[in-house]
Amino acid sequence: MAVEPLIHELGKTGRRAVRFPAPDVPETPIPDHLLRQSLHWPEVSEIDVVRHFTRVSQKNHAIDINMYPLGSCTMKYNPKINEAVARYPGFARLHPYQPESTVQGALELMHELQGMLAEISGFDAVTLQPAAGAHGELTGCLIIGAYHKDRGDTRRTKMLIPDSAHGTNPATARMAGFEVVEVPSDDRGNADLEKLRALVGPDVAGLMITNPNTLGLWDEHIHEIVEVVHEAGGLVYNDGANFNAILGIARPGDLGIDVMHYNLHKTFSTPHGGGGPGSGPVGVTSELERFLPGPRVRIAEDTVGDSPRYEWFQPEASIGQLHSFHGNFGMHVRAYCYIRMHGAEGLRMISEDAVLNANYLMSQLRDHFEVAYDRTCMHEFVLSGSRQKRNGVRTLDMAKRLLDFGVHPPTTYFPLIVAEALMIEPTETESKESLDYFIDALIQIAGEAEREPEKVTGAPHTTEFKRLDEVGANRALEVRWVPPMVEVEERELAAVAD
Ligand SMILES: *Cc1c(COP(=O)(O)O)cnc(C)c1O
Repeated sequence: MAVEPLIHELGKTGRRAVRFPAPDVPETPIPDHLLRQSLHWPEVSEIDVVRHFTRVSQKNHAIDINMYPLGSCTMKYNPKINEAVARYPGFARLHPYQPESTVQGALELMHELQGMLAEISGFDAVTLQPAAGAHGELTGCLIIGAYHKDRGDTRRTKMLIPDSAHGTNPATARMAGFEVVEVPSDDRGNADLEKLRALVGPDVAGLMITNPNTLGLWDEHIHEIVEVVHEAGGLVYNDGANFNAILGIARPGDLGIDVMHYNLHKTFSTPHGGGGPGSGPVGVTSELERFLPGPRVRIAEDTVGDSPRYEWFQPEASIGQLHSFHGNFGMHVRAYCYIRMHGAEGLRMISEDAVLNANYLMSQLRDHFEVAYDRTCMHEFVLSGSRQKRNGVRTLDMAKRLLDFGVHPPTTYFPLIVAEALMIEPTETESKESLDYFIDALIQIAGEAEREPEKVTGAPHTTEFKRLDEVGANRALEVRWVPPMVEVEERELAAVAD
């Protein structure tokens, strides 16, 4: 079989990163049928590899490079001390099958984190199992279902969800077997209380509300909303993705909420991980505690003067296990470290600064863009690009143009109820200087949209790749590097199969 010549971008035959000493035992040849001659790897030195991956890492945006005001995602800085602590061998090298007695420190950390999250949010019990916000929502929906079933109330098939909700809300409610019923928003961006009153009834299992909501607004009727749903026999789920706005200021448990998830990768500074491990713990009232997923950690024995002994246990009416083992433990360590670093005062300051930053941005941008709901915002706010659209410049174009300024664009076209939405969340970790840089960039873009729209509609101009085929990039994503010899290899495999 002919092996065609091969050109790699960086490889050079015989180049090595590591040279092993000659073996001092006889070599055992690898049987020919296990070797594929066509499988050519680039032969590169250590510096080639380091430079390659460093260059590749710089082709993407990251919070460690510049501002990342992606609304609803709370792309705050991930403190490096979290990483250092999560890498302690006593945490990082644990095996989930180790006996309880040998992982007491990890159990203690999980137990304390559960307690801290419960205290911050006003709930009685917390599970750390879910791996993401959406996963937490599913957990919460299953718990709501289990609660009604346990009471013999099987008529409750509907889940009410405001029209401003994140798409994961209806998706998870549906996965948990509920029929989704939309609650419209009123003209101040709240869930419409009168419409809600008309929707509740004996067939409603609960309401999934996001407060502060995805418009960056505190629902002005949250007390009445909770009351209306409870009076009708339903439970209230709070999507806690926006918890960054109210740490140390308001506790959803105190507002009468029954279930809530936390996004550790948003509020509590663990990395979003590019699709990697997230963490979406769920807090519940004492009434719902026995339905939580297991195993959970508890204190087995509290000996005076000594640290307690911890153990796993299964809640009596548990909905089951939602994640292999105990959730993404490395994320629990990072969030624990973050909360301990800040303390109660520090957490409150996080929210105050996050809200201040968002209101500062909104106040500086309101003359240049339409503001979707013009009232004091929480940690984020929504602009509309409809003024610019009259000149043929869409929100998508402005988002692309922002790339030329080295800033990640805000969330676009969400929430769905705002035309040409541009949803901005600066987070507390940006300085006034970086906020001002972002403001100046957006004001310049608004000016260009009037005077030279093609500059915006043709953006980005300075990035490695220009306009991408967004649909193709989504539907036919190909992230593998395919070596040029693959075709030969496939022929070879076919020959082996014959
Ligand atoms: C991010 C987010 C979610 C989903 O959280 P994931 O961790 O991405 O699954 C749900 N609701 C809102 C409002 C969010 O911002």
